[in-house]
Amino acid sequence: MSDATGVIVIGAGQAGVQAAEALRAGGFTAPVTLLGDEPLGPYHRPPLSKAWLAGDVDAAQLVMRAPELLAKKGITLRTGVRVQAIDRSARTVTLADGSTLPYAGLVLATGSRPRALPLPGADAPNVLPLRTRADADGIAAALRHCAQHGLPVVVVGGGFIGLEVAATARKKGLAVTVVELAPRLLGRVLAPVLSDWYAQLHRGQGVVVELGAGVVGIEQQAGQATAVLGSAGQRWPAGLVVVGIGVVANDELARAAGLECERGIVVDDCARTADPAIVAAGDCTARRTADGTLLRLESVNNATEQGKSAAAALLGTPRPFTGTPWFWSDQYDKKLQMAGLSTGADQAVLRGSLDAPGFSVWHYRGDRLLAVDTVNNPREHLLARKLLDAGRWPAPAQVADSGFDPAGVLAP
Ligand SMILES: Cc1cc2nc3c(=O)[nH]c(=O)nc-3n(C[C@H](O)[C@H](O)[C@H](O)COP(=O)(O)OP(=O)(O)OC[C@H]3O[C@@H](n4cnc5c(N)ncnc54)[C@H](O)[C@@H]3O)c2cc1C
Repeated sequence: MSDATGVIVIGAGQAGVQAAEALRAGGFTAPVTLLGDEPLGPYHRPPLSKAWLAGDVDAAQLVMRAPELLAKKGITLRTGVRVQAIDRSARTVTLADGSTLPYAGLVLATGSRPRALPLPGADAPNVLPLRTRADADGIAAALRHCAQHGLPVVVVGGGFIGLEVAATARKKGLAVTVVELAPRLLGRVLAPVLSDWYAQLHRGQGVVVELGAGVVGIEQQAGQATAVLGSAGQRWPAGLVVVGIGVVANDELARAAGLECERGIVVDDCARTADPAIVAAGDCTARRTADGTLLRLESVNNATEQGKSAAAALLGTPRPFTGTPWFWSDQYDKKLQMAGLSTGADQAVLRGSLDAPGFSVWHYRGDRLLAVDTVNNPREHLLARKLLDAGRWPAPAQVADSGFDPAGVLAP
């Protein structure tokens, strides 16, 4: 990499900031420029559906890295700047104002965007997605409006973001309905036992949870959404509709530049694309794993670790990110923490009781531990990550016995 030209990072989110800082930490001395199209500097997204929406944290607590801190590290942050195109042969990027910037190394950290609800009436101003601080502020204002006028909230999609918004709205005393097409909540990521537990948790808090319910349109009056319409003739009145039906990777720049994309920018374990000058990290990627399958992870952990790998690859010291993935979600007073990936598990072993304040579910394929989901049990979550990283774990029968301490498996 030509040191004089430096590195451009597209996307000033979790992965972009991590990559920029890791370049500096790795001894890179040439210019590092972080380009973000949002008006704000880097901020944390997870609180947007939780503490920020609830009004429990202030704007300063949302800041991920203050611009001054980045400047101190020699990282030039430019906000409100959108990259329009990449010219791989000239090694330049073109900005929205038509100017170009040269790069020796390029980090694509463009994240993802909410999947739009492609239905009649979904263009109403009170049908809102949640990805950015601006989205969250719009939802917060709409929640206040609903509270003032006694209007209900409908959440379309029973995934993590939708359920977190439902919990926050419910805590504010609003009437909330969650409409989910699949027969269970969080069906893509959780075992049935936890899906059922979440449905019970929300219903216990007074949320109406509609499962196996397709949405066919949004009813509008005077340009505002007034109800969500179901495929079986249902009509759920709404003063606010929050849409949480998944995300789409922002891979268009890479695609247009001729890089391989398949539900995201295809990278290897070291965050490398086929172009040695271009790496990618975070929500915008699809990682090709050892068995050839593509893995898409949308989490802070993935963005952080891939960001570090992206920097290492540009520095010529490749660092595979193959560690145990983890994730969390806060709903009401319950913190779910997930370690590993339960896809392909054939056995879910409950440790403790679903009625207890905390418990865990251990996922096995045969005798092999794939993942552990814990609720209000941070100690066991950390232990699970250690066990999965070490490749040593207790047998399913041991885990089912709450008198057995799984930490013993790690003893030398
Ligand atoms: C409401 C919410 C709650 C969440 N809760 C959790 C949680 O509890 N736990 C967890 O692990 N994860 C959570 N996540 C997911 C986590 O926040 C993301 O996985 C993470 O932010 C991904 O980081 P990223 O850097 O890849 O993308 P982003 O943070 O999205 O950053 C990408 C940035 O690039 C910008 N960009 C895109 N294209 C361009 C362009 N052409 N030019 C310039 N800039 C561009 C985007 O506008 C964006 O600012 C949550 C996400 C949301 C939205």
